[in-house]
Amino acid sequence: MRITVVGTGYVGLVTGACLAHTGHDVTCIDTQPERVAAVNQGQPPFHEPGLAEIMSTALRHGRLRASASTAEAVAASDITILAVGTPSREGAIDLSALSAAAAAVGRGLSGCSSYHVVVVKSTVVPGTTDTVVRGIIERTCGLAASSFGIAMNPEFLREGSAVADFMDPDRIVIGQWDERSGQSVAALYQAFDCPKLFTTLRNAEMIKYASNALLATLVSFSNEFASLCEATPGTDVEEVLNGLHLDRRLSPMKDGQRTAPGILSYLRAGCGFGGSCLPKDVSALRDFARRQGISPRLLDAVSAINDARPAQLIELAEDAIGSLQGSSIAVLGLAFKPGTDDLRESPALAIIEHLKRKGADVRAYDPLVCAVPGIRVCGSAIQAVTGADAAIIATAWPEFALLDWTALSAMMRRPVLIDGRNALRDATLSKTVECIPIGRYFTQEGAAFAS
Ligand code: NAD
Repeated sequence: MRITVVGTGYVGLVTGACLAHTGHDVTCIDTQPERVAAVNQGQPPFHEPGLAEIMSTALRHGRLRASASTAEAVAASDITILAVGTPSREGAIDLSALSAAAAAVGRGLSGCSSYHVVVVKSTVVPGTTDTVVRGIIERTCGLAASSFGIAMNPEFLREGSAVADFMDPDRIVIGQWDERSGQSVAALYQAFDCPKLFTTLRNAEMIKYASNALLATLVSFSNEFASLCEATPGTDVEEVLNGLHLDRRLSPMKDGQRTAPGILSYLRAGCGFGGSCLPKDVSALRDFARRQGISPRLLDAVSAINDARPAQLIELAEDAIGSLQGSSIAVLGLAFKPGTDDLRESPALAIIEHLKRKGADVRAYDPLVCAVPGIRVCGSAIQAVTGADAAIIATAWPEFALLDWTALSAMMRRPVLIDGRNALRDATLSKTVECIPIGRYFTQEGAAFAS
């Protein structure tokens, strides 16, 4: 099929490159000329394992290209996927990029003689596809829906494993305006062997929010227990959650072995969820619920618990070293999670803000992030921790557990390590390092409670 993907970000580019990889002919559209140029040169504009390889193969075979001209690409294709950003504006979903993209698609459709399907892949609140997007396209192209198709196909990929997730999805959800629209989207995914759920446009939109709301809830649930354990002598959130994971409904047995489903990684304590999806999707859903006359009490609590995490980590640091005024703190990890260079809504940035407000001098290090405006980013963990009064792990990069903490702590002014992700729980640390994990009770004297 000839496909146009509007929005060449994490979702759009991965979608475009993967669909080209499965044999489709794909044009990726973006309003940023440098992004268009980078894609045409085979350079992914962000870090994503495996993306450069499939882009380069698809470009070489002439199955992938990028352009800035939406209408032209739409007129020359069979199906258009909208994958532009839907950020949060004052807690509500901001549809300005999606509306602009839909208008451009509508202009392209007026020059289209054959049947064309418009697929919303961006995460949007229920009703957006069949009201906002349909309305804009109908007004711009002068045709009524059904003479063109409409579908909603939410995306579940995770940054850091986006290509693998896209190529091997758990399920493909296809919300359809009518059967013909849905069948066109199914043809797009002919090469994919996974359950395909055909449903209404609004169910498809809601499924995406239900998925992200569940993940966010599990994180805040775990962090609630972290706070509880920090206040309860003789408890440790890691042990508590490990015990929880052993419930066979969470970790079923397969061939006599205990499995560890991916969902368990959300049942872990840390400094909170971040990224371009969970925080803004929970906010958009809460706003949507209120507009529906529903008070989203659970999701309000999920957000409140998450918003409080960075400050709670700062309290751990203050308990360990006293006032942060004039202190030197190393923050290890900037990305919102390991495996990506995405800083959007990263808890690390909120932690750094808190530290600065408390008068601390902050230096940071991240394996993939070299520069952030307003933050002193060092080239190595050693550089960041040298002379520091404390180091805070804000992203669970596996390499942090492999660092020689005995040597590093010798370079610090005080060998205090706040493990904001419990990333070093399994590492062997010498007694010279004072490691303070999340969710463990410490006595007034700073010793872990021994029962
Ligand atoms: P992104 O910010 O990485 O990319 C969006 C791209 O769209 C940008 O390159 C931007 O320049 C471009 N754009 C904006 N307006 C445009 C227009 N009118 N025409 C053409 N291009 C335009 O966003 P993303 O992370 O890829 O997310 C896209 C959507 O997918 C969002 O709704 C998001 O919630 C959803 N989603 C994201 C992820 C994720 O992990 N990032 C996962 C699932 C779903």
